Amino acid sequence: MFTCPYCGLPQERFATLDADWVMLEPDMEPLAHTVPAERRWITVADGRVTVYGVCPPVVEQRCRIEHELACPSRALPDLWPWLTSLREENRRASERRDGPEPPASPAELPATG
Ligand SMILES: [Zn+2]
Repeated sequence: MFTCPYCGLPQERFATLDADWVMLEPDMEPLAHTVPAERRWITVADGRVTVYGVCPPVVEQRCRIEHELACPSRALPDLWPWLTSLREENRRASERRDGPEPPASPAELPATG
């Protein structure tokens, strides 16, 4: 067991199939479909770990998550990049609008019964 240098909590180090290391959250195996696709780690026969590649995941499949996602001392990484892109596009679209009318307050809306 290793200690996270940011929060001091335990984390488990595993070798990955890519000859790298990943620090996983101990004692935590959420259902894979509740974890963003690229963040689902599973253990293979030799004890190494790899990102679970079945998508959509098998309903009862569980996975491991990186401690980084659970670390209270680090900012949460961008788990949904496509939503971040969409929000950025929408922010620009919103800024491009010329003098948007402020939304009417509910009191000014006609009563519709
Ligand atoms: Zn930590």
